Amino acid sequence: MDIKRNQPDLQARKEQIISEVIGKLRRHFGRTLEEATPSQLYKAVAMTVRDAIMEKWTATRKARVQQQKKRLYYLSVEFLIGRSLVNNIINLCQDEAYRQALEELGVDLAEIEQSEPEPSLGNGGLGRLAACFMDSLATLGLPAMGCGIRYEYGLFRQKIVDGSQVEMPDNWLDDGNVWEVPNLDDQMEVHFGGQIEEDWSSGQLHIRHTGYHTVIAVPYDIPISGYDSDVALSLRLWSARAPQQLDMSLFSRGEYARAAEEAELAQTISKVLYPEDNHQEGKMLRLQQHYFFTSATIQYIVKDFKKRYPHMPLTRLHEKVAIHINDTHPALAIPELMRILLDQEGLSWEDAWQVTRNCFAYTNHTVMSEALERWPLQMFRELLPRIHMITNAINEQYCHDLWEIYPNDFGKISYMSIIAYDQVRMANLALAMSHKVNGVSQLHADILRKDLFADWARTEPDKIIGITNGVTIRRWCVKANPGLTDLITEAIGPDWIKDADQLQKLIPFAADAAFCERFRRVKAENKARLSNYIASKMDIKVDPGSLFDCQAKRLHEYKRQLLNALHILYLYRRLKEDPAANIEKRTFFFAAKASPGYYRAKEIIRLIHAVKVLVESDPVVREKLQVVFLPNYCVSLAEVLIPAAELSEQISTAGKEASGTSNMKFMLNGALTIGTLDGANVEMAQLMGGENIFIFGRKAQEVENMLRNKLYHAGELYETNRALKNVLDMLVDGSLPADHPRQFSDLYQSLLFGDGGNIADPYLVLDDFAPYAEAQEEVQRVYRDTQEWTRRAVLNTAHAGFFSSDRTIQEYNERIWHLEPIQMERE
Ligand SMILES: *Cc1c(COP(=O)(O)O)cnc(C)c1O
Repeated sequence: MDIKRNQPDLQARKEQIISEVIGKLRRHFGRTLEEATPSQLYKAVAMTVRDAIMEKWTATRKARVQQQKKRLYYLSVEFLIGRSLVNNIINLCQDEAYRQALEELGVDLAEIEQSEPEPSLGNGGLGRLAACFMDSLATLGLPAMGCGIRYEYGLFRQKIVDGSQVEMPDNWLDDGNVWEVPNLDDQMEVHFGGQIEEDWSSGQLHIRHTGYHTVIAVPYDIPISGYDSDVALSLRLWSARAPQQLDMSLFSRGEYARAAEEAELAQTISKVLYPEDNHQEGKMLRLQQHYFFTSATIQYIVKDFKKRYPHMPLTRLHEKVAIHINDTHPALAIPELMRILLDQEGLSWEDAWQVTRNCFAYTNHTVMSEALERWPLQMFRELLPRIHMITNAINEQYCHDLWEIYPNDFGKISYMSIIAYDQVRMANLALAMSHKVNGVSQLHADILRKDLFADWARTEPDKIIGITNGVTIRRWCVKANPGLTDLITEAIGPDWIKDADQLQKLIPFAADAAFCERFRRVKAENKARLSNYIASKMDIKVDPGSLFDCQAKRLHEYKRQLLNALHILYLYRRLKEDPAANIEKRTFFFAAKASPGYYRAKEIIRLIHAVKVLVESDPVVREKLQVVFLPNYCVSLAEVLIPAAELSEQISTAGKEASGTSNMKFMLNGALTIGTLDGANVEMAQLMGGENIFIFGRKAQEVENMLRNKLYHAGELYETNRALKNVLDMLVDGSLPADHPRQFSDLYQSLLFGDGGNIADPYLVLDDFAPYAEAQEEVQRVYRDTQEWTRRAVLNTAHAGFFSSDRTIQEYNERIWHLEPIQMERE
């Protein structure tokens, strides 16, 4: 990396870093450079970086307060930020200074980076999106704060033992966290349970909440740097703790049990991240987590507003505050804001309703019904009695308004209502009370408008919009792929890092033989880096000369890792039948965590492992094919894997993947995509032309139609496609190494016969099998033409600018938030 902008005196900064690092080691650890452990070195270096960001942090706060600009609160139950050290150095544009300083100190940055505990405070795409958004907000200098939960244990660490997933706790905080600052001034009390009394004695309604449990929410703020930006934002993560004073009074009144309950509730609330992705269960602790962090956040928002604007009435809150909820998990923030406005600030119902709707906007992330949040009414009422009353009242008014629009249409009103059939439907709450609702790709938004949320789209035609997701160029190219970053910068200058549209300037280079040669060399280096990583971590040798084919994402039936695995079995059979079969040498990389309670997903991991062992065991096949399962997929692994990928597998059942974001990361890093017309793949194909992406399979409309009208019969494909039948039979005929006598009969049964009332193969694995195999033939045909492959790879990178999260955030801002950048005086 060689970006020297904003570094008036590299030499001076280098000297400064050297003395700071040595000083930190001495003062914080009592060690000299020679004595320091890698972890101490990491911390010392991180502290010097933190100091630099802290300067920007205080300056940003000062400017924000002075300029009185509207501020965004981005609420998300997940922020999958990954490691911060190197990313922050890049954002500060001090990579060259640090490189030189650390070289002089004899410290290897890549090595000490390994000592940074990785915050895995998210499951997958949704949480990573929130992290990319924070980077872009800071880069664009927009006034914003991210708000979430400081889980003591992030997403479980995955191990593969005898081919099966084993979960280990992720105690990422054990060794401390250099980046966080507790902010004790902003602690909040959050109340659970108890009784509500309405008191009209003063002629006005007063709400009395008694007998509740209290949990204290303590905010820990993490500074978020932006690239080449003087603005530093806060990511505020709330941690739960027991209320000590209250404890004592309860004890002295003999209420031991309640005191103990409170302590226990407080200890568990921010303990663990739920490991479900695109799936929801009505677990009480989860509801507690959601209320815990949304209540604390809303209390803080109102407190901060009153402090900043003492003369402005709360009826004007929306002029200074925008609140965005990342999926429905934070939707309790809506009745919580109503509660504070009504019960504490004395607003009328009509005013509170208007202000709330003007503040909130909601992003939907899925159309799959098992992922739509619904809470059992009784649990909701008992845990959150006042929130229940308010939600009920919101529902009554909303249904009343709907009745005016759709008189006598009971069906429609029941479908749109917030509380029905003893359930609270969080999507309906968010839809009713947000001024904008967005889908995360154009296809996804179309499906929302035409199908899942069609009634709302008719009622308020401008409300549901599509804003396609994005990823930050900084982490997913500059940090993850320095070789490619240097090459691009040399070709088109450095401005693309902040203005990714400029990547289009690379288009002519796709026809430039010298550039393509260097592009290939960068890919080869990244393949070698991944190969070394695998050799050292897993003691597995891969051939860097083979085609690197990657599917890295959560394990989910709709994402169809199974389709990929069955296709490998198909290639295996072809090689067994004809050792000279025309098959390009390939390494298939899988990386995926399965939710611990998701049996079938875990069976698919077991199958992938069995396929790996089978392929390895055959001397002919292993010359051509290799399967590698990379355990514990996380941000830092993605940073090594994605730059090395040549083929990106984005093969979800069309209509199911709302957007996908790894598709964008792979594209940016010059991998070609094999994929269905799903999520953002559709826009990738439009942007670079269908000839630069391998599209196959059913379209969303066809899938919908086949499933709705029961036109799909997987069994018929088994009967008519001989190759497919042979592959499927391998799941149960003893061909595969399996520890279990049942082999893979659950997968076999579900594909051919269905189970528990489900139709056979609801994700159309068998239906898309033949088109997928054909598309894979085309992949290897093109791969053999090295020049053509590279040309297409360059065009992928050149067209990836649209998928920068800077563009996404600008679009959110223009269409939803209407924030103005903070003006910073540049020194
Ligand atoms: C980007 C990313 C994801 C999302 O991947 P999809 O293929 O879009 O589902 C999940 N996990 C990690 C660690 C990521 O970086």
